[in-house]
Amino acid sequence: MRPLASIAFLIALLAGAYPAGSQTQVDPGFAIHDRNRPAPPVVAPGTASTQAEAGRPPSDAIVLFDGHDLARWQHKDGSAPKWKLGNGYFEVVPRSGYLYTREAFGDCQLHVEFAEPDPPKGDDQNRGNSGVFLHGLYEVQVLDSYRSPTYPDGQAAAVYGQFPPLVNASRAPGVWQSYDIIFHGPRFDAAGHLTRPARMTVLHDGVLVQDDVELTGPTAHHQRPPYTAEPDRLPLALQDHGDPVRFRNMWIRELR
Ligand code: MG
Repeated sequence: MRPLASIAFLIALLAGAYPAGSQTQVDPGFAIHDRNRPAPPVVAPGTASTQAEAGRPPSDAIVLFDGHDLARWQHKDGSAPKWKLGNGYFEVVPRSGYLYTREAFGDCQLHVEFAEPDPPKGDDQNRGNSGVFLHGLYEVQVLDSYRSPTYPDGQAAAVYGQFPPLVNASRAPGVWQSYDIIFHGPRFDAAGHLTRPARMTVLHDGVLVQDDVELTGPTAHHQRPPYTAEPDRLPLALQDHGDPVRFRNMWIRELR
């Protein structure tokens, strides 16, 4: 998709103009302006967050964290989350392990809000490091990149080790930031061969930072491992990188 077309699509998608499972090519099964064509489902849009208060998700979203409990999350071994629950947010407890959603998700629109430790501690990759892992495999980096340099394909909003963000839209430590992620997972044929690589579009604090990028495979440190056959739906993960990053207002809309 060309950049302008994909921005227009994203705006339409965020505005709810496309139903879940929308096509990206004109459907030859309907005449233009066919009034008998099924109408898209109605969705009540949410509200924007403020620094003081999390916004309301769209009516058809699955709420992954509503400010009160971590019932939809677990550690890799299935145990209850050891991360700290605060007033309207939750926080990484260093060395307690990654969190995974109990449910698996496929292609999706994902909204995440996070705040970096304030006062900041450490530098480079050890300054407010966490991460949002689509399918538990593809990391959108969470890092304090506000006036804090690191390698570009590992700064905040990078697809880790593959794509630096187009711009650095980081807010200061302690200030709530957001990612809006459109993810299309990879597909494999019956023999396990890749037929479609994963793609991602990301807005950081409302600014386009990843424009429909095509992933080389799972993200990793110092390597780009190839794809291996995986299910269409897998749990999301949040990274424990040893830094007390906070999260709030997380919701997902599956694109079926
Ligand atoms: Mg990370």
